[in-house]
Amino acid sequence: MRLLFFVLAFHLSVAGLLAQHGHAHPHPHASGRSIDFPDTKNYLTLVCDFHQHTVFSDGSVWPDIRIQEAQRDSVDAVAMTEHLEYQPHQDDIPHPDRNRSHVLATEYAEATGIIVIQGAEITRDLPPGHANALFINDANALLHEDSLSGFTAAREQGAFIFWNHPNWIAQRPDGVAELTPFHDYLIANDLLHGIEVVNEFTISKEALQIALDHDLTIMGTSDIHGLIDYQFGVAEGGHRPVTLVLARERTAEAIREALFAGRTVAWFENTLVGKTENVSAVVEGSLQVTRATYRGKSSVAAVTIRNDSDADFTVENLSGYSLQSDLGVLHLPPHAETTLEVMTLERLPEFELRLRVLNAVTGPEERLEVTLPVAPE
Ligand SMILES: [Zn+2]
Ligand SMILES: [Zn+2]
Repeated sequence: MRLLFFVLAFHLSVAGLLAQHGHAHPHPHASGRSIDFPDTKNYLTLVCDFHQHTVFSDGSVWPDIRIQEAQRDSVDAVAMTEHLEYQPHQDDIPHPDRNRSHVLATEYAEATGIIVIQGAEITRDLPPGHANALFINDANALLHEDSLSGFTAAREQGAFIFWNHPNWIAQRPDGVAELTPFHDYLIANDLLHGIEVVNEFTISKEALQIALDHDLTIMGTSDIHGLIDYQFGVAEGGHRPVTLVLARERTAEAIREALFAGRTVAWFENTLVGKTENVSAVVEGSLQVTRATYRGKSSVAAVTIRNDSDADFTVENLSGYSLQSDLGVLHLPPHAETTLEVMTLERLPEFELRLRVLNAVTGPEERLEVTLPVAPE
């Protein structure tokens, strides 16, 4: 299937991609496990994991392993986000410099093309709970006694800051993410810009609603402590949660701009989650009608849709036309073509397929609707 996809992709899209972006697709198809979404009409789709731990806080591996995992998954950008205040390995691995994990990861990443963004996890009881600061330049300056100063020190370095696992049952036994006055203060004072809607194995509807209500950037992260392969069952077809960042170019600065602008989609257990405009850009960039012809003299059109993404889309047919092959809910498998037999009742020069994508989530109860224009040959 991958070979077929590659041939089709080469045949059909190289010219289009070059026209859109002026360069070849940034994700190499290195292996079946690579996390792969096509670029959108206006932006590159960068695969990012901005919440990871190593032995420099409570993780179990050295930073080079995080870079090797990122290579295997074709991750574009990572951040080592060690707990500033929680250092359980410090007796065995003394390190007065909280920047060390980032420095080592950057060294290992040098030959790989992976972008390493400097981060740290501000680790507090709720409120405010845990938060990651990205694009800092000195993690040591974030070490403070009180809760607020860590945020202000990060912001003085220009940080993008997001609230981690607001639904974490160790801090919220009911698992319900809920904004506190402390968070209201952080948001009002430009000290909180994003929120994890997805963390490791969890997704939070309440966090998604908070993101939409307060225009926070939607984040999805692995929060990996052990090994990506074991934790997310990669050998069994699983994948780590990531944030797809819609960026103007493949640089740290462009990622930073996109994060502050809120152009992200979380990718979690075969589900895309984000603001409507971003999810719609990713899904529309993934689905193309590649062929449409009426069968013989009939009014049944064979419409072939190519899905260039990793998502196995489950779609509901809202077109008003019945399909020959099913009762209206169907799959568009990843990196493959699917042909639908559409009963338009008369032969039309053009029509539209309207689909509700059940695993493209744009609100706690909302699913994305897309319209694919069809012009039979
Ligand atoms: Zn945490
Ligand atoms: Zn963490």
